[in-house]
Formats: sequence, C-alpha cells, structure tokens
Amino acid sequence: MILSANRFRWLALIAALCTAAAGMTPAPGCGPERDEPASPSTGHWKAGLAKVCITPQSPVPMSGYAARTKPSEGVLQDLHARVLALEDPAGRRAVLVAADLIGCSAATASRLTGEIARRHGVARDRVLLAFSHTHGGPKVANLLEGSEDPRVADEHRQAVVDYTTTLLKTMADAVASALANLQPARLAFGRGEATFAMNRRQKTDKGYVIGVNPEGPVDNDVPVLRVESADGDLRAVVFGYACHNTTLGGTMYELHGDYAGFAEAGLEDRHAGALAMFMAGCGGDANPHPRGTVDLARQHGQALAEAVERVLAGPMQPVRAGLRTACETVDLPFAPPPTRETLEARAEDTNQYRRQHARRLLAMLDRGDRLPASYPCPVQAWRLGEEVTLVALGGEVVVDYVLRLRKELGPEGLWVAAYANDVFAYVPSRRVLQEGGYEPETSMLHYSHPGPFAPEVEDVLVGKVREVVARVRPGGRD
Ligand SMILES: [Zn+2]
Repeated sequence: MILSANRFRWLALIAALCTAAAGMTPAPGCGPERDEPASPSTGHWKAGLAKVCITPQSPVPMSGYAARTKPSEGVLQDLHARVLALEDPAGRRAVLVAADLIGCSAATASRLTGEIARRHGVARDRVLLAFSHTHGGPKVANLLEGSEDPRVADEHRQAVVDYTTTLLKTMADAVASALANLQPARLAFGRGEATFAMNRRQKTDKGYVIGVNPEGPVDNDVPVLRVESADGDLRAVVFGYACHNTTLGGTMYELHGDYAGFAEAGLEDRHAGALAMFMAGCGGDANPHPRGTVDLARQHGQALAEAVERVLAGPMQPVRAGLRTACETVDLPFAPPPTRETLEARAEDTNQYRRQHARRLLAMLDRGDRLPASYPCPVQAWRLGEEVTLVALGGEVVVDYVLRLRKELGPEGLWVAAYANDVFAYVPSRRVLQEGGYEPETSMLHYSHPGPFAPEVEDVLVGKVREVVARVRPGGRD
C-alpha cells in the first residue's frame, strides 16, 4: 500500500518538523497557555514511573542551614527523584517529578522543563516539579539567585555547578523513562492525618522567633493519590504533608531526606516495586515536633507512612481519567524598597547577612538596575478527573494559605502543594507579615530580595489561585 506508506511518511515528517520547531524555542515559563477542553471520559489512565538516585557522589555544600561551615560528610540516607507520568484517554500527558531536595530556582527548573518540552513535547503547565525541602541535601545552583554565598568556599563552588548539571540530566532521563513506560492504570484519592507538624512562630518579648507555638495554626492533612495497575497492584503512592523537613539540624553533615525520606523509604519497603512520592504542602511556618535526632526523623517518617497506609487500606475515591492543566505566574508585590542611603548604612552592619544583602542590592543599583517591585510566583493547577484539584505553588508558603483556599475553593478533592517549580522565598500571609520575624523579614536577606512582601501579597496570590483553578474546573475558560 504505497499510498498509505507515503501518507505515513508525511505524517512522520510533519511530526519531526514539529519536534524540531519545539526544540528551537526554549519552553516558556508558566504562562496562560491554552489547552483544549477535556472532560473526564470513560477511558483509562496510563501511568509510567521512574526512580533515580540523586545522592551526590562526593562531598558537596549542603543547603538549609546558614550556620553550616563545611561540605557534606557521608550519606545517612540516599536522596531520590521519582517521576510519575500520566496520560489521559485523549493522549494528554503530564509529568510529576518529586525530588528529595531543598528546592530549585525558576532558572534551574526551566532548564529541566525546557528539555522535557523539547524531547517529549510536554508543555510547561503539564510538568510539576515538587521538592521535599529537605535541609539534609545538597545546594542546587541558583537557588539563592544573585547571592554570593560566603559560606560556600571557592573550591566548592564548582561542586554545586557540577552536581546541578548531573542532577538535571539524571532527572530528564528519568522523565524519558517514565514516559516510555506508560501502562494502563487506575487512580484513587483519599485523605489522612498526621500530627507532628508544629507551628514554629513563637511570640517572645523580642518579637516572633523560630520556636514552638502549640497555639499556632498547622495543617494536619495528608492527601494521598493511589496509582495502581489495571490488575489492582499498587504502583505508586503520592502523598503530602505541610511541614518543613527539618527534624535534623545544621550540625548534621550526612546527607539525608529527613522525615519525608524515611516515609518514602518505609512505604517502598512495605510495597515492593511501588514508588512513594512526597510533596510538601504549605508548611513554611511549621517544623516537625519534637526534633533534633535521627530517631525522631525516623519516627516522624513512620508516622507519616502509617497515615498513608491507613488511607490506602480504607475506601478511596476513584479518580476518573481526564486531565486539565494550567500554569501562570503572578507578580507578588514587595513593600517599597529601601533607599540607597539606608542600604549604604546597612552595608556596614555588624550582621553579616544584612551587610551582604545590602551590598548585593547596592551593586544592582550601581549597575543601573532597578530593585524589583515584585516577584513572579508560579501558580499551577491540575484537575484529575472530576475528583481532584491539585494546586502547586512556588515558594515557602505559610499555612494560612491552605486554610483560606480550603474555605474559598471547597475542601473536596483539593490538594495544595507548595515548594513547587520555583523556591524563591517565603510567601507570608497578611497576618504573618504583620507579626514579622524570620519568614516574612529576615529570611529575605538570604533570598536576596529587596525586602518583605507588601501586605496585599495574600490577596494577590489567592486571587490568582482562584483564576487558575477556575480554568481547570468544569466550565473553565480553556
Ligand atoms: Zn524553608
């Protein structure tokens, strides 16, 4: 059948040209891209999985605690990136990458998402990069963009760059592997509860400090997505919790994934062949409690794994096959920036972080750059069937956001992840901004932003989440 063969060759050529064209343009960041309407159908999901070890092979500077003075020494627990690729009956594909890392910058994330778009044609809004925010992992290039971290000695800087290059290649290959192994699958959703998250904003005579605040709000929700084969075998479980991965402190120099790493490992031990993937929630102002030892990290990991097990053992809501996705950025406004005079005074401050921060901003002004008035925060939403709305926010989002979004969007099937796609700063609520302290104020010195966010930040972000979610829910404008 020459005609058919020719026709096939034409289609192949067109497909090749489309792929080549996609390769010529870098993947755009999160933007208001159009997606064809999707309605959950009676067809089936396909799921593909991959897991790769991302433990650095030699000592590296670690990320999470400013007081650390030397590179990592050994490995307590391997770090992993796990990939879940999904395809709905209409052929729409999405990729979730969950990594045992502190986070990564928008620039680093776009290197990976650009590669995924180029190699597989999966658009930016269909790639979700989730970070566990472990404080026991390596630094990743450009996380604190623009900062010259004095704690990274010159001889170790190249290690960060080299690690990041290897990491991105490893993760891109894992995505390729997951997409190449799509198999018929069933999805189901449920919720559990874990109670070791503690609000860490403690009020003192000197203002709010990082401590223990049993009166403060936390989110105990443990959302769980079950992925099983057509035969009902567990293939993967994705689960969330809104709490910093900081059971272990800055004196620990062995690499580890903290409680989330132990939860993942525990679940994978109990379900041979299945993957356990953690996504951090709005835990910017929550720490595990109590904390400080490896045993406690194990204990919290076990508590979280048991919460997930209880959900898996109970009735779960089947998730129909159908995927809608959207991703946009929203400009989160900063408060008015400090004047040059203020920065010049701060450039001589006795506090090294205030001093270095002021000097970085002065260098920007000296180059003729303006201090940014806002930061573009990614807001992503995936609608799975009619049952699950997964919202993924960039930044270290505090708990007030998930509590408010649950009220405004309805709790049913809502999953709010943070530390996704771009970990650029803490994202405080209006309340946390008013109270002050580490998350809204002093942490900004490390992130190199001009200063705290403006009080409108909460309404601006919530407004954008509502818009993006409306696009993926029934009747959305896509
Ligand atoms: Zn943090």
